[in-house]
Amino acid sequence: MQRIDTTRVVIVGAGLGALYAALKLAPHPVLVISPERLGAGASSAWAQGGVAAAMDPADSAEAHASDTLRAGAGTVDPEVARRVTKEARAHILDLTDLGTPFDRSATGGYVLSREAAHSFARVVRIRGDQAGAGITRALVAQVRETPSIQVLEGVMATGLHLEAGQVSGVEVARCAGGLTAPCLLRAPAVLLAGGGSGGLYALTTNPPRIRGEVIGMAARAGAVIADAEFVQFHPTAIACGRDPAPLATEALRGEGAILVNRHGERFMASVHPDAELAPRDIVARAIFAQTRAGNVPALDTRTALGTRLLTDFPAVASACHAAGLDPLREPIPVAAAAHYHMGGIATDARGATSLPGLWACGEAASTGLHGANRLASNGLLEALVYARRCAIDIGAALGTPSDAPEVKLPELAPAALPCPTLIGRLRQTMTDGAGVIRDAAGLTRALADIAEITSEAQAAAPLLNMTATATLIATAALRREESRGAHFRADFPAPSGPEGHRSLLTLAEARAPRALETT
Ligand SMILES: Cc1cc2nc3c(=O)[nH]c(=O)nc-3n(C[C@H](O)[C@H](O)[C@H](O)COP(=O)(O)OP(=O)(O)OC[C@H]3O[C@@H](n4cnc5c(N)ncnc54)[C@H](O)[C@@H]3O)c2cc1C
Repeated sequence: MQRIDTTRVVIVGAGLGALYAALKLAPHPVLVISPERLGAGASSAWAQGGVAAAMDPADSAEAHASDTLRAGAGTVDPEVARRVTKEARAHILDLTDLGTPFDRSATGGYVLSREAAHSFARVVRIRGDQAGAGITRALVAQVRETPSIQVLEGVMATGLHLEAGQVSGVEVARCAGGLTAPCLLRAPAVLLAGGGSGGLYALTTNPPRIRGEVIGMAARAGAVIADAEFVQFHPTAIACGRDPAPLATEALRGEGAILVNRHGERFMASVHPDAELAPRDIVARAIFAQTRAGNVPALDTRTALGTRLLTDFPAVASACHAAGLDPLREPIPVAAAAHYHMGGIATDARGATSLPGLWACGEAASTGLHGANRLASNGLLEALVYARRCAIDIGAALGTPSDAPEVKLPELAPAALPCPTLIGRLRQTMTDGAGVIRDAAGLTRALADIAEITSEAQAAAPLLNMTATATLIATAALRREESRGAHFRADFPAPSGPEGHRSLLTLAEARAPRALETT
């Protein structure tokens, strides 16, 4: 394999975590690895609701932390929640200084949405559902103007390189117009910010590239993975046959939109006292049950929003239009879809992983903030807080920045693409066996199928990275013999107690035969 040495910090990914960390590392030279054009292909740009932060004087970081703890169902690290929610306000002010056009009131305050399981309206937004796009545009513009940041577009990471137990580089390949063989980039520090795992499931809201590859890469290098079983399913993906499924943001329910089925029944009223604003996992399971029973669940925005949907929620309106749906005339059909991975590469308070030389932030990381269930709009917040912490820790580890030449990738030979049939099979396996409702038999079948796909994947690194993450999700779900937050076991429908434990697992442990002994 060809090898290039660089003194730049290599950042894998180009979403919010990656871009914010690159800016916070300046003037330290960094190299951002972006499979797509900068700003495209990341969940960050698709975020609709916004960023949770206690900005209203009547609200408080303590109330935000306690909502985070409650949503996380006994597995949130209270100290992490306390510190992250306390930092939230500073990051909103910083993003504003960086040019993010958050919605403001006539008096200059931030316009705040209320989302499910928040006790207060505290989600900072942009034109209703344009938060991710607006934040991404502002950060991409800053990154383009920062001389210390080099961006390689059309390039992806396929593996990590270790020397004497320390991460010493990343294997990267060109991916625009077909995958090439990798080359090794040796670097003083590697930050993984490659997003979550939604695309491991057949029904997801995540962009196609977001499919657990970066978590799998870290796992294959030996990193500890935390809370892998906790995958959040969004209740209101628009059920229009598109992959990925467009999202009808939670903020619509915050504005009063209701869930109905084909009989016109408002079914959430009998499921939870908060009805449509119940915690996300409860709404997701209710929607899943309605879908399974053939009741065609749908989101009715007509009375609450009327034509305001078109102006205040342009992303939802345009997704409906593209799918031939008219939300002004009829409710929007919805389904529960894989949306957010609470689990990921275990990191400490500085963003450092269990492997020296490797840091992680954003959805690829598991910091202890989300526990078994992420509170709405805490995802972008966590990416901001830990991107900055990673930058500080990496900066401290590397010392005084010095100039570094730009990295130029050599010519690389074409490589075989991972087989699309195997990827499709993996995604269906995860939806069927490790989805909204799980049990031991289904998880055991899923693990056997994932093992077969792994052996058929041969040397296709992207697929091996995906099956590694799938193995960890299904194994951790099989081991957790209780229901907690987003993890629901039909064969263990209750939590084991008010407080839960976080799960910590390496890939070697997940693949050891004893992982199956519980079945
Ligand atoms: C439709 C939707 C709506 C959402 N709404 C909200 C919201 O309102 N509020 C909120 O807090 N959260 C929301 N979320 C979640 C939130 O957007 C994500 O958790 C957050 O953006 C993650 O940021 P990130 O930087 O970690 O990852 P991402 O933004 O997903 O970026 C990951 C990057 O890694 C790259 N990548 C992937 N694989 C590789 C590889 N092998 N090599 C190199 N690069 C790779 C991707 O191309 C991408 O650039 C939403 C998510 C979705 C999908």
